[in-house]
Amino acid sequence: MTETVIRATDVTRTFMISAGAFRGKKPLRAVNGINLEVERGEVLALVGESGCGKTTLAKMLLGLLPPTSGTIELTGQPVNSIHRLEMAKLVQPVFQDPYSSLNPRKSIGSIITLPLRVQNDPNPETWRKRAEEIMELVGLPSRLFNNYPNQLSGGQRQRVAIARALINRPEVVICDEPTSALDVSVQSQILNLLQDLRKELNLTYVVISHNLAVVEHIATRVAVMYLGRIVEQTETATLFDAPEHPYTEALLKSVLTPDPSLGIPDTQLGAAYPNPVNPPSGCTFHPRCAKVMGQCSEIAPTPTKRPHGHVECHLYDDTAKPERAAS
Ligand code: SF4
Repeated sequence: MTETVIRATDVTRTFMISAGAFRGKKPLRAVNGINLEVERGEVLALVGESGCGKTTLAKMLLGLLPPTSGTIELTGQPVNSIHRLEMAKLVQPVFQDPYSSLNPRKSIGSIITLPLRVQNDPNPETWRKRAEEIMELVGLPSRLFNNYPNQLSGGQRQRVAIARALINRPEVVICDEPTSALDVSVQSQILNLLQDLRKELNLTYVVISHNLAVVEHIATRVAVMYLGRIVEQTETATLFDAPEHPYTEALLKSVLTPDPSLGIPDTQLGAAYPNPVNPPSGCTFHPRCAKVMGQCSEIAPTPTKRPHGHVECHLYDDTAKPERAAS
């Protein structure tokens, strides 16, 4: 039986951005009406170019940022009603850069047991044993307990970050580009480790990645984001075999970059990514869309149910079919 661990309903997040000298502020809708359900044991990947809203969404799932409107529930509880410490037990992040996410002045043992100290765990005499158990689980020898991050390789540091995230046995792990700062040779080791841990600990992952090869390897479902909306969401195999949204098709055709700061290259997308403060009318993808139709610049598409998810494009809603047939 499936169990919904994450449910987001009509979630928006708006930032007020300066529009320039004497022009006051304008709203930037970083996340614009997102609906999402993630079942226990799933790996949901959020993909899209920089600025599409995936990091803002991840911060809201971590409870670091409140939604402007809408609700987010974790294991059936509204996030805004969960105490900060309880939230840290339920959901933990793993960041992309194990070089900057670990305190260089703290020993590995101290880093991994930090969540136990933060939670005022009542059994400090068990901390070392629990740390060594989780170190074994993530493939770190216990002799590294008193070492420091600068004595470890990049892959070992990411294992420390994963051990720290898992020591309190969270329900959900948000992985933000978990392998992009690592050598190619250790990327697959970390991905395989995350897969093994998911099965062993019955974890649910939300993975943010620019690297579609990583997404194909690890995700069970993919949500493609564009200007704050999920424009296509489906099972991973379906998305890679038969993408439906023109933006997804363009992403899959793009040449991938190993540097996440460069975003997904624009090779197939014509016009540049629009200014999110002044998004295009109608379908916000229309200035870049290879399949744009008459109504696309005027009417925003709404989600259309598909066999394994949904897509948000006039090509798939009933109103567009005559025009598609005529073209
Ligand atoms: Fe392209 Fe129109 Fe579909 Fe938008 S709604 S993705 S512009 S075809």
